[in-house]
Amino acid sequence: MEVKLYNTMSRATEVFDPIEAGQAGIYTCGPTVYHHAHIGNMRAYVAADVLVRTLRLSGLNVKHVMNITDVGHLTSDEDEGDDKMEVGAAREGITAWDIAERYTVSFFEQSEKLNIKRPNIVCRATDHIAQQITMIEQLEEKGFAYKTDEAVYFDTTKIDDYGKLARLDLEGLRGGERVDLGAKHSKTDFALWKFSRGEKRQMEWDSPWGVGFPGWHIECSAMSAHYLGDQFDIHTGGIDHIPVHHTNEICQSECATGKAPFAKYWLHSEFLRLLDDIKMSKSSGDFLTVFELENRGYDPLAFRLLCLKAHYRTAMKFSWDVLDGAATQYRRMRLAVTALLDQGDADAVADTAADEATARYDTLIRSALYDDLATPVALTHLQAAIGDDTLSAAQKLSLVKTFDGVFGLSLMEPFVEESGSDAGEDVQAMLEARQQARKDKDWAEADRLREAIAAAGYVIVDTPDGPKLEAAKA
Ligand SMILES: [Zn+2]
Repeated sequence: MEVKLYNTMSRATEVFDPIEAGQAGIYTCGPTVYHHAHIGNMRAYVAADVLVRTLRLSGLNVKHVMNITDVGHLTSDEDEGDDKMEVGAAREGITAWDIAERYTVSFFEQSEKLNIKRPNIVCRATDHIAQQITMIEQLEEKGFAYKTDEAVYFDTTKIDDYGKLARLDLEGLRGGERVDLGAKHSKTDFALWKFSRGEKRQMEWDSPWGVGFPGWHIECSAMSAHYLGDQFDIHTGGIDHIPVHHTNEICQSECATGKAPFAKYWLHSEFLRLLDDIKMSKSSGDFLTVFELENRGYDPLAFRLLCLKAHYRTAMKFSWDVLDGAATQYRRMRLAVTALLDQGDADAVADTAADEATARYDTLIRSALYDDLATPVALTHLQAAIGDDTLSAAQKLSLVKTFDGVFGLSLMEPFVEESGSDAGEDVQAMLEARQQARKDKDWAEADRLREAIAAAGYVIVDTPDGPKLEAAKA
């Protein structure tokens, strides 16, 4: 079965045809480690993780590379403002280097809580200054760079397909360039190397052009070439990277190496949109992290499930109600699979494609995943399989085991509910209130409570000892 992916470059869904048969090289733009990543950032890394896991399921040998931006990303993506690392250092009264360390650790803690597999190679910009300087030298030799007092800039007017990924309207973009170009020759030009120019900077290096630091975009061009070669299969990132960061990566890489395309497929995940009045601005320091979800009593994997329930190319809605819904669904799935683990042998059926009874579901789930990572559809089919009475527990478990390799929801781990948790007490209280309502012949209230109990993932079972709560089937 072939894997199809939506390529931002062509604006079309294409069959994934790797450069080297059986292999896939993937580069993901990593976090700028000046603060905690927020849940919107983390959504993009869940999407990249699902891509990597799906390609592995399809039998490909994946090499996944992700950078850590620990220098050069200014407060505006367009070379304006201060370096975010120095902003973080001033905010917290520690060095820029310590800020980078603190938030790199934080990023991987959040990733781990979301079952995001660590990429094969994680590379820091500050560990690859030499490779970045070499690439800037190549661009200079080929006539694509010019130097001012401020910086060494890439001359975007030297190439005729600048902005092809974003399909930028260059005339419109450059039209207003009488206004304030600063040291640049054209509005779309961008810094390859910025000079320190007497400012006190914590992160700076010698270069053939003077003491300074690399621009943000050059690190991804230099490190992707270093680890994946001049041309590789897939580049991922958030849609916010398309107009500036990825646009600039493409022209640097293709001009420095003389080879195009730099990346064969471009995959971009959509934003997370906050409903209600939840704020998410790093400048105000008031934003949601996976740590905060945990503090509020949520399992981080309920958030991962929420990510999977939205296709990566659609805006994902987030509110506490929406997360509550995902948490209930997640709990039900875990309870249902735990019940199967009690009945069946998880290792009894190994190959879900070969077994006649499971092959139908195997095909349905696989087809959805291979169709541009349609996780919402794939999840629905897995849940249908779990609820299918014609399958044995072992057959269901073999499907869960195979596809949780992509979903990453820890479904095969036996689920033990924390006793005395708030949710459990709430449901018990609702059951008691319902008994009282029935005694009072308040049928409407009794029905309302039964529905509320069902929404929390339980059914009421009558027993000789009175009504009891049982976990609902997924
Ligand atoms: Zn990047």
